Parts: sequence; C-alpha cells; structure tokens
Amino acid sequence: MSQSEHIYDCVIVGGGPAGVSCALECHESALDVVVLEREERVGGQLPLIPSPIFNYVAGYFENGEMARNELEKVAKLFLGERLLTNCNVQSVDLTKKQILTNRGNFRGRTIFLATGYRLKQWDFPVPERFAGDVLYRSGIVRDQLRGKPIAIIGGGDSAVFTALDLAGHDCPVTVLARSEKFKARPDIVDSMYRHENITVHTGTIVKHMDGGPKLERIVTENSKGDIEVTCEKVIAKLGYVPNTELFADQLVTLQGHIKVNENQATSLEAVFAGGDIVMPGYDRVAFAAGTGMMAARSIRCYLGQTP
Ligand SMILES: Cc1cc2nc3c(=O)[nH]c(=O)nc-3n(C[C@H](O)[C@H](O)[C@H](O)COP(=O)(O)OP(=O)(O)OC[C@H]3O[C@@H](n4cnc5c(N)ncnc54)[C@H](O)[C@@H]3O)c2cc1C
Repeated sequence: MSQSEHIYDCVIVGGGPAGVSCALECHESALDVVVLEREERVGGQLPLIPSPIFNYVAGYFENGEMARNELEKVAKLFLGERLLTNCNVQSVDLTKKQILTNRGNFRGRTIFLATGYRLKQWDFPVPERFAGDVLYRSGIVRDQLRGKPIAIIGGGDSAVFTALDLAGHDCPVTVLARSEKFKARPDIVDSMYRHENITVHTGTIVKHMDGGPKLERIVTENSKGDIEVTCEKVIAKLGYVPNTELFADQLVTLQGHIKVNENQATSLEAVFAGGDIVMPGYDRVAFAAGTGMMAARSIRCYLGQTP
C-alpha cells in the first residue's frame, strides 16, 4: 500500500513537546501514529531556551538544548520511523483528514495539531545592507555583542530581560517601545529604568536606519520629535505568534489560537490540538506535554479504546 493510501490512526503535525508527548502515549496504546516535523530534529522551541529550565517536573535542565536531547532520545527509541523530520506540512484538509507535505501525502482517522509558536517579525522595511544587523535573539551571540551599542525594540518581558542582560555585558542599551506603557513585569521595568547603561524611549516609531556599510544609528520619532539612537545592532523582541495559518480558517479560533475544550478537541470532529497554539492555554513545556497526553487519551476514546 502506498503512503497516500495508508490511513493512520493519528497524524501529528509538529514534533515539539506537545506533538511528541501525544505520539508516545498513542504508541503506548498501540495506535498507528506518525509525527510530521519540518525541522531536522524534534524538540520545537526547546533548543532556543538559553537559560536553565527549572519549572518542568521531569527534571532540571541546564538549558533547552539538554531538554531537547532527552526528548529526542525517548522519541527515537519508541517512535523510530514514525518520527518524520525534514517533513514540512504544506497544506491541511481537516475535513478529509488529509495532509500534504514535501515527503508525500498523509491521511489519518484523527489529527493532532501541535505547531507551536514562532517569533514575531519586525514589520519595518529593513534595508538589505542592514539585514544582518537586525537580530531576534541575543543569548547565543551575547559575547560578540559585549560593549557594543544596541537598540532593543519591544515593551514586553523579553525586551526588558534582554536589555538588562546586555546592559550587564557592558552594552550601552536603548529600549524603544511603541506604546507609552511597558507590558513587562513591573519589577523588571523598574530595574531597567534604574540601570545606568539603559536609556528608554516610549511612544516611539522607527523612521530610518543609517550607516554604511554597517548599521551606525537609527532615527525614531515620538511626540517630542526625532531621536537619534547610536547602535550597531537592533534586537527585535516583539513576542510570539502561533503557527496556525495553515488550518486556522477551518476551525474556531480565539486571537489566532485554536479553541479547544477540556479534552483538547477542536471545533471539528476527530481533530485535536495542544501546546502553545491552543486557547485556553499557557506557553510552557509542562502544558505542552500535558495537553499532548490529554489529546492522546481523547484520540483513544474516539477510536473506540477504553479511556
Ligand atoms: C526563549 C524561550 C524560553 C522559554 N523558557 C521556558 C521555560 O523556562 N519553561 C517552560 O516551561 N517553557 C519555556 N518556553 C516555552 C516552551 O518552549 C514552549 O511552551 C513549548 O516548546 C511549546 O511546545 P509545543 O510543542 O506546543 O510547540 P513547539 O515547541 O513550538 O513545537 C512545535 C513544532 O512544530 C513544528 N512545525 C510548525 N509548523 C510546522 C509545519 N508546517 N510542518 C511541520 N512541522 C511544523 C515546529 O518546527 C516545531 O518543532 C520558552 C520558550 C522560548 C522561546
């Protein structure tokens, strides 16, 4: 039987903590399951976590890469060929339960959606020559940035944490927030305002990026006029968005997230979702793993197994 004729008990889209958790439980229940993951390795956002993870009950991990290695080990051990990496889901027909990928078509009796979050991109038209001077993450290159003037765009926790981190690495930091009030935790906003290496401008919109050939400054505007900010790098910390564009128009959504009930069921029969992309939800590893597990239970029940 060819791949496109085979009908799996469950096709899982996304190999992060939610997808792998669901797959392991389906496998333990002897269900015919496959995980489709577009990256070369499973683990989702885990390898992007530069700091220790100490809010996940499975153990203490010095960083996200360590947690990913453990997840990958158990996934490969039990799922083997049922874990398809470099497999990019290109279109999804949730009514027919058909999924089109660069590695062929997949059909399932049920589907579990677990495509996670991605960083929100800066909507400023960055000139080509400065493309390399706009970063979305600083943790990995922090040592290369030491002492350099940096502009940070954003007003949430991530922007403020990054400002404090780089200011502590001798960088003169300027934080540019679009709104007048920071969304970030008040305690860290306080520390930011008190830090001698950090300058803050609120209510600002970036107008130009200047320099040549490398970035030297940006010009922003607020109600008082133009402000020139010396910087060699811009770090955009604008938050995260759910990867739901492929299927959101086929389901009931809430603020771009997939609406689910307490069994992780979506508005379509036999379609379940979990992890960061669902509402109600919480973008944490434990929540992703738990909702993957809950979805597996619902899938078993749907397919006629006892809970
Ligand atoms: C910097 C940072 C720090 C964090 N710190 C913590 C922390 O300390 N503690 C904590 O609990 N949580 C933390 N988190 C959050 C945690 O990583 C996420 O909540 C968790 O990874 C969500 O799991 P998920 O499976 O829902 O999604 P993801 O981990 O995002 O996995 C989704 C997977 O789906 C794949 N995918 C997406 N679209 C497609 C497609 N079209 N085709 C095929 N595959 C696709 C992606 O490649 C990805 O592998 C942090 C996150 C970040 C970014």
